[in-house]
Amino acid sequence: MEVNHIKNQSGYLKFIPLGGMGEVTKNMSVYETENDLVVVDCGIGFPEEAATAAAEKAENEILIPDFSYVLARQKKLRALIVTHGHEDHIGAIPYFLKKVRVPVYTARLTAGLIRSKLKEKGPKKAEIKELNEDQRINLGRDFSFELIRLTHSIPDTMAVALTTPFGVVIHTGDFKLDPTPLDRRLSELGKIDEYGRRGVLLLASDSLRSEREGSSPSERIVGETFFREIQKTRGRVFITMFSSDISRIQQAIDVAAALGREVTLAGLSLERNFEVARDLGYLAVPKKQVTTNEKLKKLPVSKQLILASGAQGQTNSAMAKMARGEHRAFKLGQGDLVLFSSDLIPGNEEPVQRLQEQIRKVGAKVLHLEEVPEIHVSGHGYAEDLKRVMQAAHAAYLAPIGGTPESMAEYAKLARGYNYRDDQIFLLENGQTLEFYFHQGRTEAKLGEKIELKEFSIIQK
Ligand SMILES: [Zn+2]
Repeated sequence: MEVNHIKNQSGYLKFIPLGGMGEVTKNMSVYETENDLVVVDCGIGFPEEAATAAAEKAENEILIPDFSYVLARQKKLRALIVTHGHEDHIGAIPYFLKKVRVPVYTARLTAGLIRSKLKEKGPKKAEIKELNEDQRINLGRDFSFELIRLTHSIPDTMAVALTTPFGVVIHTGDFKLDPTPLDRRLSELGKIDEYGRRGVLLLASDSLRSEREGSSPSERIVGETFFREIQKTRGRVFITMFSSDISRIQQAIDVAAALGREVTLAGLSLERNFEVARDLGYLAVPKKQVTTNEKLKKLPVSKQLILASGAQGQTNSAMAKMARGEHRAFKLGQGDLVLFSSDLIPGNEEPVQRLQEQIRKVGAKVLHLEEVPEIHVSGHGYAEDLKRVMQAAHAAYLAPIGGTPESMAEYAKLARGYNYRDDQIFLLENGQTLEFYFHQGRTEAKLGEKIELKEFSIIQK
């Protein structure tokens, strides 16, 4: 595994995860040389207590990464590159851009979602640069990059191929290898193969579902499940999901159209994401298919499909309000069917169970993942998918990211199956520097300093 393109024999390349290691959310990574610094992703996380406490205050609390390492080096900060539009990858951007001016590079839908976020939270002035897959961008003296299309549960998910003086780093955001993605745009494995043939220094790869055998099922399966379950009922149907699952929203709309139902959305972030994606052409919505809460209410119940936020059991969400009879438009009751189309963020088991009990108590039927396994599929690759990308990149070093400690260890196990030695696999913690340097004619890697990170929490209004 020779690594070419070494220009600077005395310098260094550092990879520092500021978030996203072992905790899944709050993703933010730094790549740094003597001259330049690039950040990949800038997401939010959720405090542990919020998951169990029903307290309103804790529920609105979010965590943002500790930016101080980057702020102290902002003279050489060249770019924020964003892999995709999920909250745990873009949610902290407003707070970051209030501290520092830096161009943000990302694909079109993600750019739209970021702009909508900045409109609400500021700052007003920001440089958001939309890229497609064929553009190469130079950043300072040491870096250039291009985006590589992957599949996930939201369109326009990209990996970053970052060319550095020590070789190429492939940094995936979240991904799976969906053989039949809704937008028909497949993962560009060929591009990763091509980089692999030329020599990749580091693969920083999604690892969350490494313990699952085989390949992650296609997102399309969820639409088939919606169709099957909704077809059986004549009552109102409610589907609750993550508000940024754009592909899931599309499938609900398609199924509604096929079964003669109209759709409405309940929940602020769900509505906002829907509007951005529709306006940019990422959602195909037949005319009059999606309507307001008030108009939908007047239709016969067999013609109603309501998409609601609150799949994680949040007490302030549209779904929870409907269950308590406090929502301004909809009150759950006899004959209603509620589909929980998501898995659980660890720690949310209790509030979700509570919400589901509440829904059953008012006479509605609940279907969730444990009863109907294909009501949700993971947006993350399983072992075979992760191995496929590992083989394609053929990187000299590996660093699983975006996983739990267990899934990162499992990823390392998969790598050993491909003859990776332990000294080529780095299971990093947040703040732990991985440093590449030049030694006796070749690039080597070692653990560098561990940066102390503080916890920053923000109460959202
Ligand atoms: Zn994601």
